[in-house]
Amino acid sequence: MAKPFASSADLGEKRQSLEVLADGVYALTAEGDPNVGAVEGEDFLVCFEALATPVAAREWLTRLREHTDKPIRYLVLSHYHAVRVLGASAFGADVIVAHDKTRALIAERGEQDWASEYARMPRLFKQPESIPGLTWPTATFSDRFTIDLGGDRGDLVLAYCGRGHTEGDLVAWLPRQRIMFAGDLVESQAALYTGDAFHREWSAGTLDRVASFGAETLVGGRGAVARGKAGVDAAIAQTRDFLTVMLREAGAASTLKEAFDRTHRALEPEYGAWPIFEHCLPFNVSRLWDELHGVERPRIWTAERDREVWEELQS
Ligand SMILES: [Zn+2]
Repeated sequence: MAKPFASSADLGEKRQSLEVLADGVYALTAEGDPNVGAVEGEDFLVCFEALATPVAAREWLTRLREHTDKPIRYLVLSHYHAVRVLGASAFGADVIVAHDKTRALIAERGEQDWASEYARMPRLFKQPESIPGLTWPTATFSDRFTIDLGGDRGDLVLAYCGRGHTEGDLVAWLPRQRIMFAGDLVESQAALYTGDAFHREWSAGTLDRVASFGAETLVGGRGAVARGKAGVDAAIAQTRDFLTVMLREAGAASTLKEAFDRTHRALEPEYGAWPIFEHCLPFNVSRLWDELHGVERPRIWTAERDREVWEELQS
């Protein structure tokens, strides 16, 4: 029987858990759906990630408002993917912060990415008509962006670690609490999406820089919060292993289809049951195949190209 396209048949509601990671530091995880977070400043809030629609974002904000009523000054976007950014209008933030390259990617391929992700993951797009349009960052940076949280709360540091899940991922780092929000650069017991990735850089220097912060709590893009140094190390190691296996298996293949079959066979025993594994793999291998054959930047995914790759590899 043919596999249903991407996550189009995954319509069951996921249970969301709001966790207080430290005084004024919140994470909302959702059994493998995209994670979000928030950090309290002395008299303002920083929100991390915006979810797929304003209606989905408002549900998160309703839960957050049980803990704090501070106004949202900053909305931080880890990268350009639609399911992370299109809920932005619900936050009413003064400033929307992202990496320079994220802004450029939204301009270049934001519309196509929106259509692609909507077809791949319809469940995440709660009331899609509530999206007013593309989300435009109002402050961008290339290396570091530091937010003074005020009082004795220390800083929130937004940092670029190199190309990885996309060209423009950032991590958000709380040095005092040693907590990191890593976006999709690290997944914890969830499959990786690498359809817009730079596998070689991500698996080496970029993850090395993420690890160098020495986080003791890490919120990845999907999956459970990684706790303790051992938990953080394990999440980073899982992410690296997933990429390393992909590189090894696709690198030994002589056709795209063989690359898919080899990669699937090698990853499936360990990662096959993790969220979005089957959904992601055709898109992942398609991009990796390009990368290994000299295509520098990821090709733009469109709803049509998604279906073609799915038909070719996963049916
Ligand atoms: Zn992403």
